[in-house]
Amino acid sequence: MGKNVKAIRGMHDLLPDQSPMWHFLEDRVRQVVDGYGYRDMRTPILEMTELFSRSIGEVTDIVEKEMYTFADRNGDSLTLRPENTASCVRAGIENGLFHNQIQRIWYRGPMFRHERPQKGRYRQFYQIGVEAYGLPGPDIDLEVILISRRFWQVLGLEGLELQINSLGTSEERTAYRELLVTYLSDYKDQLDEDSLRRLDSNPLRILDSKNPDLKQLIADAPVLMEHLGEESLSHFETLCAGLDACGVDYVVNPRLVRGLDYYGRTVFEWVTDRLGAQGTVCAGGRYDGLVEQLGGRPTPAVGFAMGVERLIALLEESENKPSLKQLDAYLVLMGEAAQKQGLILAEKLRGQCPDLRLLVNCGAGSFKSQFKKADRSGARYALILGDDELKQDIIGVKPLRGEGEQRQIALSDLAGFFSQRHLP
Ligand code: ATP
Ligand code: MG
Repeated sequence: MGKNVKAIRGMHDLLPDQSPMWHFLEDRVRQVVDGYGYRDMRTPILEMTELFSRSIGEVTDIVEKEMYTFADRNGDSLTLRPENTASCVRAGIENGLFHNQIQRIWYRGPMFRHERPQKGRYRQFYQIGVEAYGLPGPDIDLEVILISRRFWQVLGLEGLELQINSLGTSEERTAYRELLVTYLSDYKDQLDEDSLRRLDSNPLRILDSKNPDLKQLIADAPVLMEHLGEESLSHFETLCAGLDACGVDYVVNPRLVRGLDYYGRTVFEWVTDRLGAQGTVCAGGRYDGLVEQLGGRPTPAVGFAMGVERLIALLEESENKPSLKQLDAYLVLMGEAAQKQGLILAEKLRGQCPDLRLLVNCGAGSFKSQFKKADRSGARYALILGDDELKQDIIGVKPLRGEGEQRQIALSDLAGFFSQRHLP
């Protein structure tokens, strides 16, 4: 036999033991976005490569070195999406969703980036994102940030810090760019290879460098916020006032720039110190130029994406870790008649109690071994049906998580029994 085929490095399976936490997160997220009137959108995982190079920016980590790009059988250059915003914009333009319309949308799904795999950084990872199109004002910036805060609230995540900044307009960035280049040019000997290259092509990217040796140099660089025009400043101040009014704590971080070129004005990140180097769980901002850049009419837009694996890691180690859905009952079947009747009974019960999570023992086995399986299944109750019970139209109900003694109830009362237990 040959060697077993393994998963691709940096790409992980979601195993059955792990999926309840993902469902918890996804269910809560969905409740929140529904509550704000956002509707979801699903775009293909593959897109034309050009979509990403034209939107994310040619001189960014993602486009320069992280994309999974290949030629398909027709010779077209395709790319596994490294993020979902460009696809949403493409789909919006293609389907006429932006013209004279406001769109509030959300998405979720896998993204692909050829990065160095480490804790919190994978080559396939999941994002959930929220985006609003057609609204230029700081009120919608506030709304999307409030949505992100509500996610943490409903998930029970504490201690996340909101950092915000303004990147101004593209004119303001162009003026600032010159100041930055002048400043950095005096320290060329300290810059790493990437940064030296970017000094000409995309100097703002240098501020986003993860190289610790550049930290001080970046900290002393001119600050974009100090070179913003009146309108950008007032947009930012109105957003800050809104955050204050809604009781959202935040830190203004004038060094915050995002790893994608399309952002302007508002940018923000939610960060934690509990995940080591990969501490950003959610990041976003305004990208008013993107729709036009991809061929649509000018359409203001704002949104964010969060990293699901990083949020799951936080949930797993959180002090008030959520209690996850378990099985309600495990049906133990003793004897031939009970084995036959058991499946019929279980089907009827599922019809009567649509929320019931019931597992039926298959493959017979001794009472002891069936009972062991029942206990290991995590179910709240073992239901015990043997030939004696069948004759009397009763069933044994044994609480497995310490809620009293085993008792017998009439088969006809079983549905009522579970309805009263307030199954979620
Ligand atoms: P980072 O600075 O950590 O590389 P980024 O700026 O590249 O993040 P975005 O493109 O803004 O990240 O993506 C939004 C969120 O998606 C991030 O804040 C993070 O939580 C998550 N994320 C990004 N890349 C990865 C990855 N390779 N593995 C897991 N999660 C990721
Ligand atoms: Mg990155």
